[in-house]
Amino acid sequence: MTAKLYYDDLYAQEFDAEIISQTEQDGKFHVVLNQTLFYPSGGGQPCDLGKLGGVEVVDVHEQGQEIVHVLKSKLTDKHVHGVIDWARRFELMQQHLGEHLLAGCLYTLHGTHTARMRIEGDNVSIDTDKPIDINAILEAERAANEAVWRDIPVEVIYPDIEEVKANARKLPPENAELPIRIVKVKGVDYVPCCGLHVSSTGQVGLVKVTSVENHKGGSRIYMRCGSAAYRWLDDVYRVVKKAESELVCGYDGINEKISVLKGQIRDLKAQNEATVERFMKPIAEALVSGAESLGSYKLVKHVMKSSGQDDVKHMFRLLTENHEVIALLAGESEEGIFLTFGTHKDNKDADVRGAFRKAIAALEGKGGGSAFCAQGWGRKTENPGQVLEDAASELKVSAK
Ligand SMILES: [Zn+2]
Repeated sequence: MTAKLYYDDLYAQEFDAEIISQTEQDGKFHVVLNQTLFYPSGGGQPCDLGKLGGVEVVDVHEQGQEIVHVLKSKLTDKHVHGVIDWARRFELMQQHLGEHLLAGCLYTLHGTHTARMRIEGDNVSIDTDKPIDINAILEAERAANEAVWRDIPVEVIYPDIEEVKANARKLPPENAELPIRIVKVKGVDYVPCCGLHVSSTGQVGLVKVTSVENHKGGSRIYMRCGSAAYRWLDDVYRVVKKAESELVCGYDGINEKISVLKGQIRDLKAQNEATVERFMKPIAEALVSGAESLGSYKLVKHVMKSSGQDDVKHMFRLLTENHEVIALLAGESEEGIFLTFGTHKDNKDADVRGAFRKAIAALEGKGGGSAFCAQGWGRKTENPGQVLEDAASELKVSAK
């Protein structure tokens, strides 16, 4: 059984211990000590890292009554000195208490229960038992920060089970070992928890919700606390400053500027469409009038020089507005050849898939589609016109 020194002094960073056992597994060394400051992963809180006897500790987990330290190399002395990565531990304690504050306020203000919480890197996530709207979450965030400002001491107590049942926002599992460890923040939260937390709410610094998504019939709330929240704000600050400088406005004008720019882009796109159409329409008409017949259809085979996907699709639209047309188009650009084969979607008696497969294979490309429209990219070739000619032989048109 390993004595859990971390519960005795949350702020201790170094300790001495004796090795009880050491075994090798997959090139790593699993060390059990008589006592430790290393918190094992559990209850949503990741484990402590650091050094034992100067050797890096890469994982710590609980196995029955023992805490197993996983090390990169073997320890030779029976007595070891351990040092935990204090910056990491302090952040984890900030994040964990910040999570309690938000979860406690969600419960008190909105009756929301936490189904699961997890600390992962800079993010803390809370899964709630029911969907919760963003304004309600922000109200709880505000209350959690007010608890931070009041700098309330965090109490760890072991009350009897009846008292736990009467006060806790979350009940311990039926088979939980007694007494139950309760983490209490007076007036804010009272919950069973085996994790580690800073000793007063002021040390959390800041509780900031960063995003919310739907999750398993409830909400998943992502938040940051303490130094992780500070890092996030610092990132956001840099992004906002860049946007302010690019858009020549203050941060409160960014959204309006973006709306104006989006409107301008829409107008320019419409103008561009109209120009392209004016330019392409006579070409499309000439192609149809010069096209050969295939059953009751006019078959247009056309290679568009220096034309990308958008141009080809545009020409395809113009051509197939005419129900009599089957179009085999190839656009040549720097990126390769873009093929679009098809006809008006109402033409149920035509099938371009066989022709498309033949052409795309000849161009060693990829793509696909339906009987009335297939598209894809292939590599450049000397004579794309010939590829269209060869493909045309595979066209299927039933006689009307
Ligand atoms: Zn907890």
